[in-house]
Amino acid sequence: MEKPVLYIVVPCYNEQDVLPITHEHLVSLLQRMVDAGVVGGNSRVAYVDDGSTDGTWDMISQYAQLPQVCGIKLSANSGQQNALMAGLEAFARLADVMVTIDADLQDDIEVIPQMLDRHRQGSDIVYGVRRDRTSDTWFKRTSAQAFYRVMSRLGVRSVYNHADYRLMSRRAVMALLSYRERNLYLRGVVSLLGFTTDCVYYDRAERAAGHSKYQLRSMAGMAVDGITSFSIRPVRMVLTLGVVFLFIALAMLVYVLIAYFTGRAVSGWASIVLSLWFIGGCILIGLGVVGEYIGKIYIEVKDRPRYHIAEQIIK
Ligand code: UDP
Ligand code: MG
Repeated sequence: MEKPVLYIVVPCYNEQDVLPITHEHLVSLLQRMVDAGVVGGNSRVAYVDDGSTDGTWDMISQYAQLPQVCGIKLSANSGQQNALMAGLEAFARLADVMVTIDADLQDDIEVIPQMLDRHRQGSDIVYGVRRDRTSDTWFKRTSAQAFYRVMSRLGVRSVYNHADYRLMSRRAVMALLSYRERNLYLRGVVSLLGFTTDCVYYDRAERAAGHSKYQLRSMAGMAVDGITSFSIRPVRMVLTLGVVFLFIALAMLVYVLIAYFTGRAVSGWASIVLSLWFIGGCILIGLGVVGEYIGKIYIEVKDRPRYHIAEQIIK
């Protein structure tokens, strides 16, 4: 079998502190794999500069003088998910397999050969999964776990404790690129692709240098994106709430009548309390119905592909 050409795609946003270390590790790993005959000689480390404002791009263009390194620079900071897509899109035609990995070496690059092993055994997507998160802060760990739980409640399939460290074959990348939506939540989309998948496990390390680019706000933003771009269930909840309110109105009716006939009601109270719940229920149901239509429109405008072809026999 031909040796596969591997592209390691690394999104970088203001990573000048950590990039020299990362670069050294990645290039030496790539060289080792080429020497061992695991990957083809045309394999590359591909950096994506996500509109950095520090010296990141200068470093990348300097590294790119090496034959094994290439890079692209985005015009503005577009977020890690978009940077990853840009990298995949730019190099998909040149690569047989692509690995995406953060620039901070928190994900163990030594499992890349293992990923390639699994790929050789027939997997199109190999997830890098964190064995433990003890190196993360308590807050990050609990918030991430709560997020995974909410996502699975809402019916979004995702691999537990897997971030954006994964290997994808070219056809899996091509399938991924056919998702044209703007509110991108890669982890969720990748799990929609199908194909044969596998996992490799590693221990997550501390950041090698520099500091996290995700503040609480962007983490929360990502969580909201992840949930709302995959599920219209929150809209349905409004509808449910409306129905619940109507039932409460019914219960109130009974209670109010009892109060009225036993002479405990203050005059005027009954009509106000009753209409409060009744009108509330009606409004919520109305909103829920409108929401249901908007939800449908939302799903339609995404224009997601309906299927991906895994194999073809054409004569
Ligand atoms: N990143 C990016 N654009 C951004 C934010 C982050 O390309 O707007 C990159 C960043 O350079 C790193 C990866 O995404 O390679 C993950 O970021 P970070 O390590 O800061 O996130 P954390 O590990 O704390 O979740
Ligand atoms: Mg990190």
